Amino acid sequence: MVLATNLGFPRMGAKRELKFAVEGFWKGDITEAELVQTGADIRRTNWLMQRDAGIDHVPVNDFAFYDQMLDMTSLLGAVPPRYNWAGSNVDMHTYFAMARGNATTQAMEMTKWFDTNYHYIVPEFSADTKFAISTTKIFDEVAEAKALGLNPRPVLIGPVTYLSLGKSKDGTDPLLLLPKLLSVYRQILMTLVGQGVEWVQMDEPILALDITQAQAEALKSAYTTLCGYDVKICLATYFEKLSANEDLALSLPSEALHIDLRRGAGQLNGILAKFPDTKILSLGLIDGRNIWKNNLRLSLEQAESAVDALGSDRVWLAPSCSLLHSPIDLNLETRMDAQLKSWMAFSKQKLDEIVTLASILNGNDVGAALTESDAVAKDRSTSLRIHDSAVKSRMATLTLDMFARASPFINRRPVQQASLGLPLFPTTTIGSFPQTKTIREARAAFKKGTLDVNGYDAAMKQEIRDVVKFQEEIGLDVLVHGEAERNDMVEYFGEQLKGFTFSQNGWVQSYGSRCVKPPIIFGDVSRPTPMTVTWSSYAQSLTPRPMKGMLTGPITMLFWSFVRDDQPRSETCKQIALALRDEVSDLEAAGIKIIQIDEPAIREGLPLHRADWNAYLKWAVDSFRLSSSSVRDETQIHTHMCYSEFNDIIGSIAALDADSISIETSRSQMELLEAFIEFQYPNEIGPGVYDIHSPRIPSVDEMVMLLEKAAIVLDPAQIWVNPDCGLKTRAWAEVKPALTNMVEAAKVMRRMFA
Ligand code: GLN
Ligand code: ZN
Repeated sequence: MVLATNLGFPRMGAKRELKFAVEGFWKGDITEAELVQTGADIRRTNWLMQRDAGIDHVPVNDFAFYDQMLDMTSLLGAVPPRYNWAGSNVDMHTYFAMARGNATTQAMEMTKWFDTNYHYIVPEFSADTKFAISTTKIFDEVAEAKALGLNPRPVLIGPVTYLSLGKSKDGTDPLLLLPKLLSVYRQILMTLVGQGVEWVQMDEPILALDITQAQAEALKSAYTTLCGYDVKICLATYFEKLSANEDLALSLPSEALHIDLRRGAGQLNGILAKFPDTKILSLGLIDGRNIWKNNLRLSLEQAESAVDALGSDRVWLAPSCSLLHSPIDLNLETRMDAQLKSWMAFSKQKLDEIVTLASILNGNDVGAALTESDAVAKDRSTSLRIHDSAVKSRMATLTLDMFARASPFINRRPVQQASLGLPLFPTTTIGSFPQTKTIREARAAFKKGTLDVNGYDAAMKQEIRDVVKFQEEIGLDVLVHGEAERNDMVEYFGEQLKGFTFSQNGWVQSYGSRCVKPPIIFGDVSRPTPMTVTWSSYAQSLTPRPMKGMLTGPITMLFWSFVRDDQPRSETCKQIALALRDEVSDLEAAGIKIIQIDEPAIREGLPLHRADWNAYLKWAVDSFRLSSSSVRDETQIHTHMCYSEFNDIIGSIAALDADSISIETSRSQMELLEAFIEFQYPNEIGPGVYDIHSPRIPSVDEMVMLLEKAAIVLDPAQIWVNPDCGLKTRAWAEVKPALTNMVEAAKVMRRMFA
């Protein structure tokens, strides 16, 4: 019998119950007991849903109040010393203090989970980190599931992934902690055995990365120690093909191995050819990271080849990775267009797909499902809503000159200087100004229909007048309109582009209690009408100073959306770029002299395997250039990125050929500029001097100091003066003095270099 299994289910609850409970607990509005009860209710709902769908192995311990890596840190008692934890049991307050910090203690670091938009809490290690079982959560949840009559499959982050994703605080190699760690993992497994658990899922997504010899050795030692006892281990890999780690993964003595067949579609036959005799293979056929219905016929072909090779008792079906990265239930979408909806599957529907596939393989007649899946595939391949011949023919006529500015930067520069007449160390901001309650209320009223277009227009124009006046008063050189009309930097554009749609409830956890609702790109993208020109022209009409037009770049729009899976992402990215190219031309024609195209996501798009980097960077850079290169020499293109690790992609950042780039640097004290120096970055740079992630108001002196640092290594004529990122999350009370100081700092620099 082929089993239907799952690797993990979203934990937020269909109505984001967990978010509201956790935030209520933080505010003191609900008690710990109420929070715990909400967690239990969500788990129960999720488990019964999976059981009723026909899932044979239901994951347990995939639930977390904040994050699954933090849960491991708690289970293992690896609480950093600064929390003054008394030992034995990690209570809820210590747990949330690690996640978010408290009045006296800093939070643990948070970072992106592989190439997803989920963020985990980074473990901290030192030579004397000790491990001991310190929470009963996993055991309690197993007991809860057993009481419901389920066959629970507890999930643990595997020891090598856990150590590899952690950070050493004293230079000790975290892998040296492995022997200590393994003895605690053994105890955990023994306790689970005592509870009658048959299978444990060990997640080792590290196997989707390029690993070191030391990591490979650690994996061998870990699974030799952990396997072969009374509990069977399913080693789960996901997010990429195994590539160079294939033989290693197959050789580890786990009783089952899970592989991702969405990202690693081509790897199945090779793996089947050398698959060990007794191991079970779990096929990750259903996309855990996107919202499209599975093509059952194609999946069936793959699954059948596995059954032919291994026999049906050694094949399981599963999502490619945990469903944590998918929204919960498509049935909650009551307003979505029926045809678009008929192409999609959220987590709950994905469970049905897994069960259906297993059923077919087990000889049951589910012919109707197959027919329906074929119909969807046909509908998508022929739909005129997806396939827009105008977009396709335009894409077919792209010429090389559309990917480059007319003149090189050295020739553009003097023309821009003459046209803009900016001083040395020109000052500007990244785009957004505080999103006040007034702004949010106006937008909400407009959406609800209680405020009409004219009323909304007037409210937004008032905001623009206010920010323009403020910027002129404090003496900024290049102004912005403030982005008051934008709810979100991707959604705002997606709503105006053809080929995008939106869900009402398609929430996905981003970190802790924060969820995002990514736009859905279902078809060929085009721009029916200008998107930002009215706002930017209005803003420009209020001032003689240059007004920056403000756009979100093609790469960022792509990565922060659910993307169609019927053509390469590079193709979709270029379609978005073409739509933006039109917007850029229209802004220029409307008299906007500087246009900023934000690309905060360019780095997070990097593939997990280095071997795939160049191909990605090529189409990412091409897309940006396609969007930005239509303009005349005197029109200045800016871009903005907000992360501080540039060293390994600095060449590609330069290849964007933006006239100016603003970047996050203030927290790292300009450290990242080293990459720019070594590379001799040719164009202009605005290294952020004001950390907008903090409520702190930087003084003139400290910003001058940062700028002096920058001026040592860069040509002063290259340097712009700006904050780290947009100001929308800040309050006016902070922004006013901070920007006033920033302008003053620029003046000090001008005197110094006059
Ligand atoms: N222009 C955007 C803003 O200022 C940029 C946001 C971002 O980099 N994430 O809000
Ligand atoms: Zn930013």
